[in-house]
Amino acid sequence: MINNNTHIVFDLDDTLYKEIEFVKSAYLYINSYIKSRYSIDLSKSIKKCLENEINFFDLINSKLNQNQIFPIEKYLELYRFHYPKIKLSDDTTFFLDKILSHNIDFSIITDGRSVSQRNKITALGLRHLAKNIIISEETGFEKPHLNNFEILNRIYTDKKLIYIADNTSKDFLAPNILKWNTICLLDNGQNIHKQNFDLEFNYLPKLKITNLKELIVL
Ligand SMILES: [Mg+2]
Repeated sequence: MINNNTHIVFDLDDTLYKEIEFVKSAYLYINSYIKSRYSIDLSKSIKKCLENEINFFDLINSKLNQNQIFPIEKYLELYRFHYPKIKLSDDTTFFLDKILSHNIDFSIITDGRSVSQRNKITALGLRHLAKNIIISEETGFEKPHLNNFEILNRIYTDKKLIYIADNTSKDFLAPNILKWNTICLLDNGQNIHKQNFDLEFNYLPKLKITNLKELIVL
């Protein structure tokens, strides 16, 4: 499936890394911000927030005095624009090393804010490795719009394009329409968006995998 005639395109969140790790990083960052100002440490409760037992912002409101609480916009700003502590899994690193060593390039198409997504990509060490980084806020088009996929269609006219992603509700429709190969990385239980395969044919991936290493047949 993957050879020198292939250009691989990845989604970012819950495909190249688990988005829950970004959420954890953001909560810890907000916690350090609060701690440095009020010496209140919420870190022991963050695990419960990540397991959806408690809402993180409710937790903050319950622990801080009225005059210590920042407007919600401040927390959202910290959440979205902090530089995250996230990293690639060993399997993803192995897969990327493998394709790059065979001179197979890759790009990223992701929905989200420019600063947040670029921070994530830089933190994952992919900023200089990805040939093209296409972010919805920068182009003005979100999945499942065709636009961001057509950009790569125009660049890689002689390549077979593959989109590897996780979200069945929006990720695969456009690349399917453009006759790309589409591959879904299955949820290992940690994904933010749950996967539903009970959908119209055009929304479904051509292949499902549990690990990127399954694609290596080089
Ligand atoms: Mg995703």
